[in-house]
Amino acid sequence: MKVAKTIESVRRLVKAARGKGKKIGFVPTMGALHIGHISLIKKAKLKTDFVVISIFVNPTQFGPGEDFEKYPRPLKADLEICKKAGVDVVFAPTAKQMYPRENITWVNVEKLTEQLFGRSRPGHFRGVTTVCAKLFNIVAPDLAFFGQKDAQQAIVIKRMVADLNMPLKIVVCPTVRQPDGLAVSSRNQYLAAQQKKDAALIYKSLQKCRQMIKDGISNSKTIISRMRKVLQQAPSIKIEYISLVDAETLRELDKITGKVLTAVVVKIGSTRLIDNILIDTEKK
Ligand code: AMP
Repeated sequence: MKVAKTIESVRRLVKAARGKGKKIGFVPTMGALHIGHISLIKKAKLKTDFVVISIFVNPTQFGPGEDFEKYPRPLKADLEICKKAGVDVVFAPTAKQMYPRENITWVNVEKLTEQLFGRSRPGHFRGVTTVCAKLFNIVAPDLAFFGQKDAQQAIVIKRMVADLNMPLKIVVCPTVRQPDGLAVSSRNQYLAAQQKKDAALIYKSLQKCRQMIKDGISNSKTIISRMRKVLQQAPSIKIEYISLVDAETLRELDKITGKVLTAVVVKIGSTRLIDNILIDTEKK
């Protein structure tokens, strides 16, 4: 496994692999790797011949007062995980390498970023799409792998790739969960033991939603208020929002129909946790 710190070196390594006829897979991450990230690496290894992972805590996707400084950066442990998982190249640039001067060129996907998460984190998606566009230009992969855990991010990136005719395909991989249902996340380590237990209610509320839709309940307000009751069992959970949206347009649905994305965003202490499920109402 090679570790590339500069844009030139990762480009050189990818170019050599491509010269040997290898298909390039890419997994962008912010590090603090866990089994969710490993599942993306595994999928990349299955679908491509040469796997590049980036580890970069991207400053432009954090708002003022968010956790950019305190975001975990256990690079040594991450490199071990990558090695074990069979990664070919880790691209771990510095912020200076990625943003050597004031950044005045941005990629902005409209509409889709104004819904859901975009409302509580203004500017977040602009940072995500810009860094992904940069990384796609640097790594030039055939396939890039993203998690369903960040459903809106995957939808936005797919749209950017389509609208800008970027020559790669986005593969979305299922959310990896703990046995109690909590979606695995680098931010879970901010939680104390009791808070972690409480956080399992997030997935319980999503399962409740799936069950209600299965039972024929189609009024979003009813579903949301019952999901709230599940989450309110733990006073530590502060609900930011629960939304049932069309899985393609991300528009809020009053009445449940077609493919529905149910997204939950909560805060436990100062930690923001997100989760979602996709429900196809035609496939009950
Ligand atoms: P992050 O390092 O949190 O920016 O995540 C990097 C990638 O890993 C994103 O595409 C995430 O959606 C994905 N990811 C994070 N957590 C999980 C999980 N529990 N299951 C599947 N994918 C995940």
